[in-house]
Amino acid sequence: MKTDIEIAQEATVLPISEIAEKAGLKPNEIEPYGYDKAKINLDSSIKRDKEGKLILVTSINPTPAGEGKSTVTVGLSDALQASGRKTMIALREPSLGPVMGLKGGATGGGYSQVVPMADINLHFTGDFHALTAAHNMLSAALDNSIYQGNLLHIDQRRVIWKRVLDINDRALRHTTIGLGGPTSGVPREDGFDITVASEMMAILTLSNDLMDLKSRIEKIVVAYDFDKEPVTAKDLGVAGALTVLLKDAIKPNLVQTLAHTPAIIHGGPFANIAQGTNSIQATKAALKLADYAVTEAGFGADLGGEKFMDIKVPKLGKEPDVVVVVATVRALKHHGGQSLADLNEENLDALRAGVVNLQQNIKAMKRYGVPVVVAVNQFTADTEAEMALVREAAEEVGATAVTADVWAKGGAGATELAELVAKKAEEEHDFQPLYDLNDSAIEKMNKIVQHIYGGAGVELSDKAEKQLKTFAAHGWDKLPIVMAKTQYSLSDDAKKLGAPKDFTVHVRELVPKLGAGFLVALTGNVLTMPGLPKHPAAMDIDIDEKGHITGLF
Ligand code: ADP
Repeated sequence: MKTDIEIAQEATVLPISEIAEKAGLKPNEIEPYGYDKAKINLDSSIKRDKEGKLILVTSINPTPAGEGKSTVTVGLSDALQASGRKTMIALREPSLGPVMGLKGGATGGGYSQVVPMADINLHFTGDFHALTAAHNMLSAALDNSIYQGNLLHIDQRRVIWKRVLDINDRALRHTTIGLGGPTSGVPREDGFDITVASEMMAILTLSNDLMDLKSRIEKIVVAYDFDKEPVTAKDLGVAGALTVLLKDAIKPNLVQTLAHTPAIIHGGPFANIAQGTNSIQATKAALKLADYAVTEAGFGADLGGEKFMDIKVPKLGKEPDVVVVVATVRALKHHGGQSLADLNEENLDALRAGVVNLQQNIKAMKRYGVPVVVAVNQFTADTEAEMALVREAAEEVGATAVTADVWAKGGAGATELAELVAKKAEEEHDFQPLYDLNDSAIEKMNKIVQHIYGGAGVELSDKAEKQLKTFAAHGWDKLPIVMAKTQYSLSDDAKKLGAPKDFTVHVRELVPKLGAGFLVALTGNVLTMPGLPKHPAAMDIDIDEKGHITGLF
């Protein structure tokens, strides 16, 4: 079997102008970046009077066995396109850190990929580098303000704006800066997050336009002063400059699938400490340009799915017409206790014990009143008896499950899924938000834990309780909540697989992200700067004298 990059390298890639034309974009509505990539010019791309159907692809709780959400997103879109339906994909951009770290990019796999996959997984059109620069410019402005007499009375011990880098580097999690004497700044403790964890990333992807971007940047809280009052990016006077740095990054990127379905790839916030979906601009453009816009939310339905519904939908002004929950037989067996080494063996008992995870994620999405379909991403070792069991489990909770053999066959492997999704997209539905913004922060968190995770409720640490009181005084408690939780479990304990019951989620700290417009509730140990594994993917990646890349998956 060929590797993902081998398949991508053999593909016939059409000039981006042809893809733009196919998508209905006029020549002046794109800015080409070379042969096969382009930025969509925002001023014009959203001036269309119709809107397509929105299909959200999410999944069960991820396992090391793999789920294949992006692969299914691409395969499903190619199948919809092949059936004569005008389709467009709206995906997130991969983060370079994990590409070089743990094996895995974000451009799909097998015969369901977006191309040029190497470019997209590496520097693409430079959006993440621009974000890194904008983020770190704000850090520099903050430290400079302290150094130049500290007129804003910033309390160095209460700086909450760290620096970022798009490389997995655990050695930078905790740092000391400003060493080297009086001309080198004021020493203080600092640290680095990965770029995708930056609030700037969440802001970029939630902004409607440049001016919205600027006003959100102004609101970023970077620190507290000696009176414990918030200090913002506006106070530092650099919001305009940061917006300039992001003037191109805010424009969605256009590429294509192996089957030449137009794909917009834009933005990539984490789905634990941020909303985990591509940009509002990208999804809006896809909805305006196509009859079917297929998008994806990070991690499982409990994290990315919930945030899509509660944070993105209100900003987008449109809910999904269908939600596709991706599962694999392998991952469900792992949820049921089967060890990773034995996943290729049929084990109906483990599968029976593990399908509860799928069922809870289906219930969570159905709670919003939208139709739910299950796509079982087929692996060669799956048996018919196992598939039948997954189908029954999905039906028990009111969803239809079909297999998708998109990795091996591309769009041709998702004909049944595409027909089912298209049919469900026509169903009448009544979107029901999970919470009201006027609910208290605790009520919002309890609703997420009870209705989405299937748990009992939240418990706040003393610190979090105290913070909530301060936040309420500032009026920040009316913001939506981003639960920063492990992606592996419905609970806040990564080891509790399947569908744990009666658990409490422990909120240890809250972080105001006023630019993005949400409060982050930190539970457990959520890492915002990943480390490299013992054998990083970077050790297998190489290039020859002809520029031919190998080992990039
Ligand atoms: P996710 O979006 O859930 O993180 P991806 O779609 O990016 O997952 O897939 C992760 C990896 O798994 C990719 O390298 C892809 O080639 C591989 N993969 C996905 N589906 C299959 C499949 N059905 N069989 C074999 N490998 C697969």
